[in-house]
Amino acid sequence: MINPQLEKLLIVQEKDLNLQKYLHEVSRIPLERSKIQNMINMEEEAIQFARRDLNDREIERKNIDAKVLSREAEVSKFKNQQLEVKKNDEYRALALQIEQAQSDIGVLEEEEISLMYTIDEAFKEYNLEKVRIESRISEQKLQMQLLESRLVELKALVEIAENDYANSRKEVELNFLEDYDRVRNQVKRTPYIVPIDGHICGGCHLRVSNDVLSQCNSEQVIVICDQCSRVVFRG
Ligand SMILES: [Zn+2]
Repeated sequence: MINPQLEKLLIVQEKDLNLQKYLHEVSRIPLERSKIQNMINMEEEAIQFARRDLNDREIERKNIDAKVLSREAEVSKFKNQQLEVKKNDEYRALALQIEQAQSDIGVLEEEEISLMYTIDEAFKEYNLEKVRIESRISEQKLQMQLLESRLVELKALVEIAENDYANSRKEVELNFLEDYDRVRNQVKRTPYIVPIDGHICGGCHLRVSNDVLSQCNSEQVIVICDQCSRVVFRG
């Protein structure tokens, strides 16, 4: 026959563990939140990185463009100078410079065409990747919303569980309650109240002494496992 006070303490324990379960879940939310936020940040950085890479290539292309324009301006300048020079060797020297500048322009233009092709491909790849990243970000934002609504839900559940726990404690005699609280402080892993099966404590699974076993028949006191300090009763 189980001590009626112990029976009530078992209810206290049930409500206590229920409350602890919710509090534990609440305590994990900041970590979960920052995990999701870190993933979102990484995805956003990946987009920015890809965008910067494209911008750099675009700047490179504009630089080539500017070089072409400046070489073209030189060609016009040399051609004008050719109209003014009197000596043949001066004319030929200018012709050589014109030839050199035109060949430079040819090289630059080829470089620019190949770069434009690369930019075009990179831009297509960027757009595809952006769509993939953005879809992952919206999935992560959804996870974040679910987490926030779970937090709201948990706060309500904690409030109910706190009330249940407090109410269950009101049913128990003070000295039993004090014993429960003491054991609760000492024992690191739940549960705090466990049945004995044969000679074996249901908490630590070690053999309890005959003394402990015989005390379990008393209805007056709380019996403590001499191995793990949990409250024990005959199941
Ligand atoms: Zn034990």
